[in-house]
Order: sequence, then C-alpha cells, then structure tokens
Amino acid sequence: MYLFSKKIKCLNCNQNFRGVNERGKRKYICSGYHNYRSCVRWKVEEEWLLELIHNHFIIDMYKDIGIIGGRGSSKDNKDTVVAEELIDRIESIRVSPVYEELTIYFKDGTKTFMSKNRQTYWTDE
Ligand SMILES: [Zn+2]
Repeated sequence: MYLFSKKIKCLNCNQNFRGVNERGKRKYICSGYHNYRSCVRWKVEEEWLLELIHNHFIIDMYKDIGIIGGRGSSKDNKDTVVAEELIDRIESIRVSPVYEELTIYFKDGTKTFMSKNRQTYWTDE
C-alpha cells in the first residue's frame, strides 16, 4: 500500500505522483513521467516523507507540552505515533521534480520544506 499516493501533486505538470516499488523501497514518481514520459524523472522516497512528517510533529508535540529543549525521550514518542494518523493530517504534498524539492502542507496550516538531496529542510509554525 502506498501511503501518499493520493496526496502528492506535481508542480511541473499538475499530475499526481504514483507509487512504485524499487528493490523493496516504496517511492513516488510523477505519473506524467511514468505514463507518458511527458514530465521529469525524480523519485521521492516514502522514507523521506515519513521522516519529515515525524520531525514536524515531534517538534509540535514538544512545543505543546513545553519540554522542547529538554531531555525528552523523542524516540519513544516517535514510535507510538502511527503512520496513518500522521498522514491523515496532511493536506497535500507538492513536488517539483525539476528543482528536486518538495513541500508538505498540513491541515493545521503549517508546512515543511525539503530541498534537493535533502541538504536542508525547515518546518514552520
Ligand atoms: Zn509531473
């Protein structure tokens, strides 16, 4: 099952991204490229998205309970939050295969950005 298949949209051609399995790894690619070779080939790994979303909500969670910067056990929290629950909070994911970057928009109005080769990313409030 591809968790994000209905959420990811291509900024280049406006088509949805579709899931592909590559050596056991779930990835997403523009269906414009996949079906017609009419877009740019860039694959987004599901792992990246899950990591970005986890980080986004872990930061949020700590802000909420006021222990950000403390010695909280982030790993325990991270493991108890199930993927489906997190994905439910996503409004959409916009991907630019041309610039190799993506932005995740959440239903609460916040967003997370990831640049080319995952060199930088940020989360806003
Ligand atoms: Zn496209």
